[in-house]
Amino acid sequence: MGIMICETHGRVGFVETCSHVAKEIERKNVPDGHRLMIMGNLFVCDDCFRSLGFEKFASLAELSLEEVVEVTDGRMEAFEVAYEAIEGRRVFCLKCLAELESQSPATALPIAEPDDQKR
Ligand SMILES: [Zn+2]
Ligand SMILES: [Zn+2]
Repeated sequence: MGIMICETHGRVGFVETCSHVAKEIERKNVPDGHRLMIMGNLFVCDDCFRSLGFEKFASLAELSLEEVVEVTDGRMEAFEVAYEAIEGRRVFCLKCLAELESQSPATALPIAEPDDQKR
């Protein structure tokens, strides 16, 4: 899993996004799309998810890292091709993204309790 240095959070895990999700994040919009955990965190928009055929890799996302390296039926190779084809890949801090998502009034669910349970 990759580590990056965030100006706000220091050493953190990161999520890789397509350029379309990146644009939303930069505008401080909560991006729509699909999150996948395959050899790292991925976040691609609907269009990229569909056009690159990421549905095929949903089964990979359920595997642990040890299991993934044992996949020899070509799915990993296909995944790598699709991954390389993600347009304008960008990395973002996972914590910044989580904060963005938790702040958005558009997607915020009505929660009765005050959100004071900081981990
Ligand atoms: Zn996209
Ligand atoms: Zn951050």
